[in-house]
Amino acid sequence: MSGKVSDPSLWVALDDFCCPAKGCRSKNSSQWVCAKDKKPVYMNALGQIQCEGGKHRDDICKWGWKCGRSFHKGEYIRADQESFVFAMSQALQL
Ligand SMILES: [Zn+2]
Ligand SMILES: [Zn+2]
Repeated sequence: MSGKVSDPSLWVALDDFCCPAKGCRSKNSSQWVCAKDKKPVYMNALGQIQCEGGKHRDDICKWGWKCGRSFHKGEYIRADQESFVFAMSQALQL
């Protein structure tokens, strides 16, 4: 793993990121926004999510995800460990 990827101060925009919600496995990437203020969200190598400006920040496993797929039934669903690792590898593939 390169030093770049493990740098926790590096925030990656989630603009090409598959839905990490437990059980969803959507193949479509979405533009992810914060549920509270609709700002773009970013992820770092520690698996933390924060929205633009850093107002809301949480662990990726505690963050709710909703990609618009009918699977969600309109609900925000948390990511599980497996989805998290998968999503991380996708997002940090720069
Ligand atoms: Zn926010
Ligand atoms: Zn989804």
